[in-house]
Amino acid sequence: MNICVIGSGYVGLVTGTCFAEFGVHVTCVDNNVAKIAALKRGEIPIYEPGLDRLVAKNVAEGRLHFTTDLAEGVHSSLVIFVAVGTPPGEDGSADLQYVEAVARQVAEVMDGYKVIVNKSTVPVGTARRVQKIMEEVLQGRHRFDVASNPEFLREGSAIEDFMRPNRVILGADDEHAVAILKDLYRPLYLIETPMVITNLETAEFIKYAANAFLATKISFINECANLCDRVGANVQDVAKGMGLDGRIGAKFLHPGPGYGGSCFPKDTLALTRIARDHDYRFQIVESVVEVNERQKQRALDLVLEELGEPQGKTVALLGLAFKPNTDDMRESPTLVIVRGLQQAGVTVRAYDPAAMETSKAELSNIVYCNDAYDAAEGSDCLVLATEWNVFRNLDLERLKSSMRTPTFIDLRNVYHPKRVTEIGFKYRSIGRPCGMEGGK
Ligand code: NAD
Repeated sequence: MNICVIGSGYVGLVTGTCFAEFGVHVTCVDNNVAKIAALKRGEIPIYEPGLDRLVAKNVAEGRLHFTTDLAEGVHSSLVIFVAVGTPPGEDGSADLQYVEAVARQVAEVMDGYKVIVNKSTVPVGTARRVQKIMEEVLQGRHRFDVASNPEFLREGSAIEDFMRPNRVILGADDEHAVAILKDLYRPLYLIETPMVITNLETAEFIKYAANAFLATKISFINECANLCDRVGANVQDVAKGMGLDGRIGAKFLHPGPGYGGSCFPKDTLALTRIARDHDYRFQIVESVVEVNERQKQRALDLVLEELGEPQGKTVALLGLAFKPNTDDMRESPTLVIVRGLQQAGVTVRAYDPAAMETSKAELSNIVYCNDAYDAAEGSDCLVLATEWNVFRNLDLERLKSSMRTPTFIDLRNVYHPKRVTEIGFKYRSIGRPCGMEGGK
């Protein structure tokens, strides 16, 4: 089977590459000329572990190629995946201009029956809207079906998530389209991946419900952490004690500086918007969004509090990406932290294993460093913001000896409070009162 993936960002590039690895012929299309030129030169525009090797292999084996020519991709393919961005608009609702533009462009160049599969995260009703746009352009010239196949991959482990997903959601009205998509996903049947076949609206809803629920777990444990700080409890043990209950589960119960990234912030906002557009207030998710905004601010306040008079001070920031193993800084809590510190007159020295180039486009006046030790040099406070593995076992004595003031704020609860304080740091973490036992 030949397929085409429109949009070669985090989702499109991984989707295209993984289908090629399953033996399908894939054309990846993007209207970003520089991105396609880079991909053709064998350069991967994003940081995603293992993706470079898999792209190179499938290009070499002739199953994967890149183009800016949408018509070329559409003509050669039975299935067209749409994986373009759906960023938040000014009112928080998903901006569908890219999805709608692609629907029009595909319809304009169609030369026969196609299944158009939406992988972008889109509000309920978007597939029907795509159907309508295409019908208007096509005026009955060609038959087509629209399907919804939301993506659940996580940046940083995207290939594994795509190749071994917990489930595949397929929303479609037409059995023929479902059969084609099941055939495409057959390699996953072999590893017994559950397939949930639903109507279009349900598939679209599942994606938002799943992300909003995960975000709820994070905001919930962040609120627990904030209360733990006040009552003398240890949130890590609270999370463990809760998470061992099979009905709750241990995942996504890690407190921190608030969630970020390209999905949770925009998807939670979009869900509240979808609800309001249907005269309903999704109160839990509205609170989740509010708590998260507050949590980012709390992280900043914690650093400012430790600095005392911030003017003229220096902070060493370990991590800029919103999570480890990605260069993505979209909605990263570090954006709030860095901007807030700079506004207060603080110099920020930062190191991130992958996101420093991204950061240069987002933030200014940061002193970029070669590693954690370089960042700590002459600083008044060390802030661990992203739990990259390389930050998990730092030489604390060495860090302390190069800092002006030995203050360590661990926004990811990576270190053992007792161990860090014994070395002579003033140590603060999230929901684990100072000097407390526990932690790793
Ligand atoms: P991205 O911004 O990394 O990539 C989108 C790509 O689409 C860009 O390269 C852009 O140039 C291209 N594009 C836009 N309009 C185009 C057009 N008319 N023709 C061709 N290409 C076009 O976005 P992403 O992170 O891959 O996300 C894509 C969608 O998938 C979003 O809806 C997102 O919510 C969803 N999603 C993202 C993730 C994630 O972890 N990033 C996970 C699951 C779902």
